[in-house]
Amino acid sequence: EPSIVWFRRDLRTSDHPAILAAAERSPRALGLFVLDDRLLKPSGQARIDFLHRCLHALNDELGGRLMVVHGDPVTTVPRIAEEIGAGSVHISADYAPYGRKRDEAVEEALGDVELVRTGSPYAVAPGRVLKQDGTSFKVFTPFRNAWLEHGWRRPADSDSSTVDWVEPHGGQEIPDVEEKLPDAQALWEKFRDERLPDYDKTRDRPDLDATSRMSAFLRWGVLHPRTLLRDCDGTFRSELAWREFYADVLWHRPETARENYDRKFDRMVHDDDKELFEAWKEGRTGFPIVDAGMRQLKQEGFMHNRVRMITASFLVKDLHLPWWWGARHFMEHLVDGDLASNQHNWQWVAGCGTDAAPFFRVFNPTTQAEKFDPHGAYVRRYAPDSPDITPIVDHAVERQVALDRYQAIKA
Ligand code: FAD
Repeated sequence: EPSIVWFRRDLRTSDHPAILAAAERSPRALGLFVLDDRLLKPSGQARIDFLHRCLHALNDELGGRLMVVHGDPVTTVPRIAEEIGAGSVHISADYAPYGRKRDEAVEEALGDVELVRTGSPYAVAPGRVLKQDGTSFKVFTPFRNAWLEHGWRRPADSDSSTVDWVEPHGGQEIPDVEEKLPDAQALWEKFRDERLPDYDKTRDRPDLDATSRMSAFLRWGVLHPRTLLRDCDGTFRSELAWREFYADVLWHRPETARENYDRKFDRMVHDDDKELFEAWKEGRTGFPIVDAGMRQLKQEGFMHNRVRMITASFLVKDLHLPWWWGARHFMEHLVDGDLASNQHNWQWVAGCGTDAAPFFRVFNPTTQAEKFDPHGAYVRRYAPDSPDITPIVDHAVERQVALDRYQAIKA
């Protein structure tokens, strides 16, 4: 009897532990992807397009045999398992709140057909790295040190040839895409050879093409972090450790996808000016670096990390809007949008997260731009008209308002 490999955040065939586990059970497997409205509905076009490009690439790797169906996984996966008489369903474990619940429900609905979890989207699965007293880490640096000490295995040298992919019956066409997905491995190697040596010095510069742009590939599992970790150390490794840290935090505290990690911030007073929010979303604030970032997000489904921090700080500390409004907008548009990384980076900026930036450190969008976009190239590229827009707020005034509100909750 064949197995099913149900792909989710692991859209690749090489170095794929769940495929290897399926191959141990049976030489034949059906490759399945379920288009789930719960995840698609809140996603903007750029995110959905990227997913479709990943699915086309995966389908090619499977010799055109990826089965794509639209539906609720809780009913769809067991139905297909029954139709093909599958002996087991293989997945890479999902650690985010919705994915965990969904997988438990699918497991129950599958009855006697085993749901086998092998591997995860992380070098070290969330929940594994603990303090000596058995509790979870709340601060990044000690987490990173323990994570490094824990270690991970090297990438496996395997590919899809380990199983014979079953021809699907039914399912739907993958929607057309304008561009094919580039080969993530080749892009990584180019970055590693040409840019990684200067990463420390250049990574904060949005005007330079100086970061890896691997985040969306990691988000969808086109590449596993193991592959990158094999080739890097120092600062770049630490950046990947942030991704693992936030997944770990969300695993231990799933409610922090919506709620302040630091509950003191529940008392923070927020404004709710929808017009200011619209101006921020559309990149019409009159603060050129903020506008450039927000427009890059809309155009490309991506924003440079430094600019994510500046635009997020602006929403929270200059406009006094709730961080989760901004986080939702980012999740809609970011091709790499990931619940753990997104919500916890937002909370870091807002001061209410683990290990957060001290609230009194308010980013000044003008001096940030002078420092990190010194020739104005980033602004000219994305928001050339912004310097002519009248600023929607006075930064010095709003900074003081933010600090006063913070003092009030601290007291
Ligand atoms: P590089 O600089 O090349 O970094 C390499 C990899 O390290 C990234 O691909 C990413 O996987 C990881 N990484 C780097 N910085 C961080 C970080 N601060 N937190 C977690 N992982 C990190 N990243 C996401 O992947 N998804 C998100 O939804 C997301 N939302 C964010 C929201 C805000 C408000 C902020 C400030 C940051 C957010 N980040 C998010 C983190 C970071 O901005 C992106 O990972 C990075 O810009 C992606 O570009 P890159 O791959 O070129 O990064």
